[in-house]
Amino acid sequence: MIHQIQLYNTLTRKKEIFEPLNAPHVGMYVCGPTVYSDVHLGNCRTFLSFDLIFRYLKYSGFKVRYVRNITDAGHLEGDRDEGDDKFAKRAKLEQLEPMEIVQKYTLGFHDVMRMFNALPPSIEPTATGHIIEQIEMIKTIMANGYAYEVDGTIYFDVEKYSAAYNYTILTNRNLEDMLANTRELGGQDDKHGRLDFALWIKAKPETLMQWASPWGMGFPGWHIECSAMSAKYLGQEFDIHGGGMDLAATHHTNEIAQSEACSRHQPAKYWMHTNMLTVNGTRMSKSKGNGFLPGELFTGNHPLLNKGYSPMTVKFFMFQAHYRSTLDFSNEALEASEKGFKRLMNAVSLLPKLVANEEGTIQIDGLKENCINAMNDDFNSPVVIAELFEATRIINTVYDGTAKINAAELDKLKTLVNDFVFEVFGLKDEESSNTELNEVLDMVIALRKEAKENKDYAISDQIRIGLQNIGIQLKDSKEGTTWSKN
Ligand code: AMP
Ligand code: ZN
Repeated sequence: MIHQIQLYNTLTRKKEIFEPLNAPHVGMYVCGPTVYSDVHLGNCRTFLSFDLIFRYLKYSGFKVRYVRNITDAGHLEGDRDEGDDKFAKRAKLEQLEPMEIVQKYTLGFHDVMRMFNALPPSIEPTATGHIIEQIEMIKTIMANGYAYEVDGTIYFDVEKYSAAYNYTILTNRNLEDMLANTRELGGQDDKHGRLDFALWIKAKPETLMQWASPWGMGFPGWHIECSAMSAKYLGQEFDIHGGGMDLAATHHTNEIAQSEACSRHQPAKYWMHTNMLTVNGTRMSKSKGNGFLPGELFTGNHPLLNKGYSPMTVKFFMFQAHYRSTLDFSNEALEASEKGFKRLMNAVSLLPKLVANEEGTIQIDGLKENCINAMNDDFNSPVVIAELFEATRIINTVYDGTAKINAAELDKLKTLVNDFVFEVFGLKDEESSNTELNEVLDMVIALRKEAKENKDYAISDQIRIGLQNIGIQLKDSKEGTTWSKN
């Protein structure tokens, strides 16, 4: 069954019913990382939000082609064609080739995504692998009259475009105000209009990464890569385009302009933007230097952290906020998430041990429907978590014998956990995935059982207390002995 999903479309500034152009197929493009340094936790929030959306669309019966690019060229320090190339600068700093920088941080990004148990996208194209497509697109934009050349650099003509189309359609800003708030052109500037931006930039002799083009040696601007790659893999019109909110005002605004100037229609039907992860209210960003690296968070090796938190705790923390709300990073919030996540996973681990009883009166009705309704309502993950906590409460009451559950209801509970904890949220039990520890504890529990059967209570107590001293709690019940970490 295909779910009816409502999502917030930045383009229309309202929630809309999601109607893909070619259901059940869905094309989704998300701006990927600029791989000149480690991804920080803010970047991860955006990618994990889209992982949740990708997973839920698939769960809902759609066949999704998810394209998330790697920006490995063309991203200058300023969004308006100023400053150094981010890769070249880093390459000099680390004394590496630019493509070594790209390789190093692409691998790092993939490692982090794997730790968070995020699914890989269907296609992960790179800007450097699509220079030809970008040049072709620039040629079409020029042929359509919306770009001009100044000495080997090609600029997009915002004024000309604005006469036919709405440049500020995505953010609904006033063009006059935007012009007033943009730096005036100086004598050094080649562009004709303040809002014009580069599609292709002429290389200097010392530029490390440069390619031949009809306009001489150069490299592509940052915005053109996403327009070229989304069109190549999803077509000139596709369903969802996503990224962080900070990209809407410039990068996505320019993407729309380029695509429209090329194909004469809007590229994406729905634009989705994730809100920012903040630290003490300030956006986490590479340039501000307030970025936590995932590794620092997992180990706790950071001056602002009291201790380390596991990847699943961090992911759970992120999903406790809706993707369109800001989320502020704090030790207290993470500690609370850690407790909540442990409570949930502890209940999940008890689920296979629950025994059905036909006298059971517990009714699970509604829990899964509530989760589906919440996700259908613009991917409202915090509401799903509240429902999962209700499931946790039920599991615990059955486990400790205060309530009984029949086989049909128990099945519903198992489906709910399987669908939402694992399939849609992509969480995993970090404790039980530690197989060595599991195996050792299974052995110790078996030895203790044997000691008890031989009435050797001194040994069985010694085992229980010994484990307790290292933070492992044994719990005996009719069904056997289970363990949990304090
Ligand atoms: P970048 O590598 O800078 O191109 O960013 C990759 C993605 O992370 C983009 O979609 C950004 O919008 C997003 N992003 C950057 N900073 C944050 C943040 N503090 N919170 C959430 N997303 C962010
Ligand atoms: Zn992009």
